[in-house]
Amino acid sequence: MKIRISLIFLIWSSGWVIAQKNEERKPNFIIILADDLGYGDVGFNGSIQIKTPHIDALAKSGVVFTEGYVSAPVCAPSRAGLITGRNQVNFGYDNNLTDALPQFNPEYSGLPVTEKTIADRLSELGYVNGIVGKWHLGEKEQFHPTNRGFDEFWGYLGGGHNYFATEPSGAKYDKPIISNFKKPQPITYLTDDKGDECVDFIIRHKDEPFFLYASFNAPHTPMQATVEDLKLYSHIKDEKRRSYAAMVHRLDVNVGRMVEELRKQGIYENTVMVFFSDNGGPDTNNGSINAPYNGRKGILLEGGIRVPFVISYPKKLKSGIYNKPITALDLTPTFVELAGGKITEKDKLDGVNIFPYITNQIEGVPHETMMWRFTISAGIRKVNWKLIRLPDRMPLLFNLDKDPSEQNNLARENWDLVESMLKELGDWDVSSPHVLFLEGSRWRRNQLNLYDKEYQLEQLKN
Ligand code: CA
Repeated sequence: MKIRISLIFLIWSSGWVIAQKNEERKPNFIIILADDLGYGDVGFNGSIQIKTPHIDALAKSGVVFTEGYVSAPVCAPSRAGLITGRNQVNFGYDNNLTDALPQFNPEYSGLPVTEKTIADRLSELGYVNGIVGKWHLGEKEQFHPTNRGFDEFWGYLGGGHNYFATEPSGAKYDKPIISNFKKPQPITYLTDDKGDECVDFIIRHKDEPFFLYASFNAPHTPMQATVEDLKLYSHIKDEKRRSYAAMVHRLDVNVGRMVEELRKQGIYENTVMVFFSDNGGPDTNNGSINAPYNGRKGILLEGGIRVPFVISYPKKLKSGIYNKPITALDLTPTFVELAGGKITEKDKLDGVNIFPYITNQIEGVPHETMMWRFTISAGIRKVNWKLIRLPDRMPLLFNLDKDPSEQNNLARENWDLVESMLKELGDWDVSSPHVLFLEGSRWRRNQLNLYDKEYQLEQLKN
């Protein structure tokens, strides 16, 4: 009798422990980062031509952000902001990473080692952290992801990669894949290989809280798609657009594979998945469309910095649409606080925990003011007004509420507003540190010229 009672107690108490464990289990985090994906090139943002059923399903189950921004209109500084939760200008990472110019020390060409990453913070909270894919935050030893809070790395350190091949002694986009935990397998098609690695990471770490940074390079150049995927879009005449559509399709398939694996492992509900692009589409460079927004990658018109943005967290987040401005800088504090950590003023983050806002626990907006600075340009958004400062003309001022496609410059009619916004940008200039490195000077003219181009503001029909 006594034995039976003890046995019943044991079964009951162990069941209770498991239930308690499930109850308290910290959420997993996955950032799925697309590279140079246009705002208008996903189904949930109105794409007619390109189909993204798996990303759309994620959007439908989560919150779609109609005003989701990144902190820079190009890869490396945007990622520096994302990975720290600080506006990268505040630590001198204004520009894209290139080979150091003679006046700059190459030992500082990367994410300053004084900056704490989201992975550092989640490590302290008991998370295992992995990155699959593109890093682009410095190639010297001190900048490697495994020295910046990540336990596992499978990918490459530069800003892009050949999708079909690597060379043992290849340079730039042909470099071998590197990993700190396995001998990298030969690549087949890079987007699929990354999908394989992400699924494998989920399986191996399903029983512990994890953070996976799934850093895809699709649909960044080179424009390389599989024959099979190109067939799906054989009706698109423009060759670049056809390759782009096929590359986005393959990205979509691999997002679907990750969701499927999470469901299979029973951890989908407790996983915070974020999908967005590191900057806007570069227009004719890869065939992307930022409709209905004007501009493109490299400039501060909306098409350069407003990106497709979704957060899914079925356990605690109701599906819906959030139409106030948020930024990728918000992910660090949001994740840390969802994981049970605390961000204080001492952390000097520019992002805020957006979870209480999007779940209506508190009123107001996460950001009254947002600022950008990139090579020749600077921009500031205050509520619905946005100003862009350029070196060769009077400032541009748009009312995003009435003119989301930024067609009517209202600077002349609103001189007081222009003056006060310029003052804020100027104050930021003189209070931020010197830049750590510059881009090649040829990019300055190139970026300026991009403000005078016309962009596709409507969806293309099939
Ligand atoms: Ca990019």
